[in-house]
Amino acid sequence: MNPRINPGDTIGILGSGQLGRMLAMAAARLGLRTHIYAPDRGPALDVCAQATIASYEDEEALAAFAASVVVVSYEFENVPASTAAFLAARRAVRPGPKALATTQDRLTEKAFLNASGIPTAPFAAVDDLAGLQAAVESLGLPSILKTRRFGYDGKGQVMLRDASDLAQAFEALGMQPAILEGLVPFTREVSVIGARSTQGAFAAWDVCENEHTHHILSRTLVPARLKAETAQAAIDMTGRIAEALDYVGVIAVEMFLVEDTTGGETRERLIVNEIAPRVHNSGHWTIDGSVTSQFEQHVRAICGWPLGSPRAHGRIDMRNLIGADADHWHELLEQPGLCLHLYGKHEARPGRKMGHTTRVLDENEPFTEDPVN
Ligand code: AMP
Repeated sequence: MNPRINPGDTIGILGSGQLGRMLAMAAARLGLRTHIYAPDRGPALDVCAQATIASYEDEEALAAFAASVVVVSYEFENVPASTAAFLAARRAVRPGPKALATTQDRLTEKAFLNASGIPTAPFAAVDDLAGLQAAVESLGLPSILKTRRFGYDGKGQVMLRDASDLAQAFEALGMQPAILEGLVPFTREVSVIGARSTQGAFAAWDVCENEHTHHILSRTLVPARLKAETAQAAIDMTGRIAEALDYVGVIAVEMFLVEDTTGGETRERLIVNEIAPRVHNSGHWTIDGSVTSQFEQHVRAICGWPLGSPRAHGRIDMRNLIGADADHWHELLEQPGLCLHLYGKHEARPGRKMGHTTRVLDENEPFTEDPVN
């Protein structure tokens, strides 16, 4: 399916969170309308032209949604495969079902990456306690046990340090199919946000350097402090992944940087941790800090339109406002040059992403090393 899409048409987005909200705002700027479909009411509903609140299994509501839009996309990767297939039979779903199926499951994703020649942490499948014992024998400790599906922001994973903890750890994850990963001795975490068009063109922003607090992204610095050739290798890897997935839209690839200083010279290596088949938190700076935002780029790509330039306006410091951080909105507004984004969520629960700020740094201004929280 290759629909001709024009300004004035309505695009469909599954999911009503802040990513859907920022996609709908970018679509509106290009004269498009957005229909949000989600099982629950989220912040995207404040800014869309149409909304359907129904379950992902409600075929009548899905069929009406498909009939009302020219293309379907999503703001999160856990859309049930049956929902994606139902919609794909009626409308173009971008990124396509292959990207969803590959990235929804950590085991499938890592097998795909390794088959494409892209390095990951060493891993082993774990289906039961005996499998976990065997995996620990082969990978050693410490290592990390992760559920194969539905993990995010550090949820659905347990660090294993001691062989006596195994049964307890497997129970803590609900005895679900899991994978065990060897611990990667990384020095920094980085991500590449890129986009692939329906014509196969690929464009990526500068590599992002990400800091986490309690497993939640707290700050993104751009460009990441890497050697130029390492940054290029990260972007090339992302382009290869997008190509192999026959991808359309924005894709984010999270990577670990490993520095090896044997022999006096520092060598940098990249190991892919995770692929997100969607716009990504570490790309929020692109709204204020680059020619084309990740949200606009995703809209352009899924509509079959030309990609925009990912050129950054300078070096960037993006910070998430988590929970009560957003209560300081008035002080943040007082800081010149700080761009404030609030997602319009009513309740600031601890750990909840309430907004973010972006600052384009002055030419020679260093990144501050202060802890974020
Ligand atoms: P994930 O949910 O896979 O993105 O993991 C959340 C965080 O846990 C990552 O951002 C890392 O800080 C850490 N982590 C995950 N996997 C590994 C690994 N194999 N080795 C070291 N740290 C890891």
